Amino acid sequence: MTKSAAIHWFRQDLRLADNPALLVASAHGTVLPVYILDDHNAGQHAMGGASRWWLHHSLLSLNASLDGKLSVYAGDACEIIPDLVARMGVSTVYWNRCHEPWRIRRDARIEADLNARGFSVQSCNSSLLWEPGTVKKTDGTPYRVFTHFYRKGCLGAEAPRAPLQRPGKVKWHRDTMAAKEIDELDLLPRIPWHRQLEPHWTTGEFGAAARLEEFLEGGIWQYKDGRDLPAKPFVSRLSPHLRFGEISPHQAWHAIRAVFDDEHVDKFCSELGWREFSYNLLHHNPDLPRRNLQSRFDRFPWVDDDTLLSAWQRGLTGVPMVDAGMRELWQTGYMHNRVRMIAGSFLVKNLLLHWNHGERWFWDTLVDADLANNSASWQWIAGCGADAVPYFRVFNPVTQGRKFDKNGEYVRRYVPELAGLPDKFLHCPWEAPAHVLSQSGVEPGITYPGPIVDLRESRERALSAFAALKRDK
Ligand code: FAD
Repeated sequence: MTKSAAIHWFRQDLRLADNPALLVASAHGTVLPVYILDDHNAGQHAMGGASRWWLHHSLLSLNASLDGKLSVYAGDACEIIPDLVARMGVSTVYWNRCHEPWRIRRDARIEADLNARGFSVQSCNSSLLWEPGTVKKTDGTPYRVFTHFYRKGCLGAEAPRAPLQRPGKVKWHRDTMAAKEIDELDLLPRIPWHRQLEPHWTTGEFGAAARLEEFLEGGIWQYKDGRDLPAKPFVSRLSPHLRFGEISPHQAWHAIRAVFDDEHVDKFCSELGWREFSYNLLHHNPDLPRRNLQSRFDRFPWVDDDTLLSAWQRGLTGVPMVDAGMRELWQTGYMHNRVRMIAGSFLVKNLLLHWNHGERWFWDTLVDADLANNSASWQWIAGCGADAVPYFRVFNPVTQGRKFDKNGEYVRRYVPELAGLPDKFLHCPWEAPAHVLSQSGVEPGITYPGPIVDLRESRERALSAFAALKRDK
């Protein structure tokens, strides 16, 4: 390669269209496209199992779009990038900025190192509509309340830029000396758990575009209220595609706004706004994934109980809405947002288990596991985050089920052992008379567990614990 060629380092931007750094790099004519699996610097934030499965397929798809010229590596990017630059004799490395604290630290180190050796780095924004730090209150401090952040901060700022074209004619170059094959990254789980995920997703940039298209044709028309119905196809399911950058938020925002402009579109755009809010929180609170934003929660009397945690993880709590959600997660790598709130609230409020347990399990099993969204959402559910759900709001899985899964379609899909129960008892089988249970083929404790906690008592226990914390503040 010559000094006039460039490196584009793919990270969370696994696409060719609307990729600002790649587009600038392509002006060099010859580009070495690179991906590095950097568990070394990620440490405890190394990707979980479901994300690795997704990444494997996303890289295969990206490699196909690059005529098989993607160079992949595993290891410390702080060593790999400088070594590559020196070996390939290029002058500039391009990347799109990432916002996880460990990536920010690492990228700053690499940039300083390259600059000191006379090479340059050019970075762009590709993954957020408004980069953290650009949306602030008039007094210069960050927003902590979502509605103000979104309505005043984001919508009051410059509108998101229009998506960019794919790079034109580029000569892709591969490092034939040191690059690995994608299979050698060893991303697939050792047990064949991923086989069940496969039918639910089409990974890669084209899969993301197809998903968006499908949502534009169907779900968006019912999004505002339909987004709360877990059995219905009224949400976009774009989250893993956004997480891996197979589609940019700019592409989603403009595609939706181009079709029409109504309350459904506004609601969808405000959900993209929640994603921005999470990243903003992470930017201003780098400890968000581990530490309570409200430090008084450090004194909260969490319970330590592996049996309860395991029942929750396996979808065997005896509470149908919770179990349906946890099984949807295990079987598809995704859980509907309404059910994430129900299952999350059950873990931290009814079981009183620390939200870190939920955050870790989701991190490992969600295909859309995202450091900012996951940690901000868990803190929101636990009541210890910014603009969090009030401590006295304990989601009741029975009333939530009756409201949002009225006909039991969702519970019957994921908890088939209860399918024969009449709707009236589907969300609370413990209330069903013995003859109804036996007619429905349900044997409590044998075909389906009894509830692992009493919903009313555990709610009262949580409320007292939260109230005590509030009094002591
Ligand atoms: P849609 O309703 O179609 O929304 C479109 C997009 O907006 C989503 O893809 C997502 O990028 C964004 N979005 C929607 N809701 C939220 C939200 N509440 N917070 C932030 N962004 C949002 N989302 C993740 O992407 N990764 C996570 O790891 C994650 N963990 C969560 C953990 C808990 C306990 C909870 C309650 C929520 C979590 N969420 C997470 C947020 C939300 O549940 C998902 O983004 C959403 O369910 C994804 O489905 P969708 O793409 O169909 O969403």
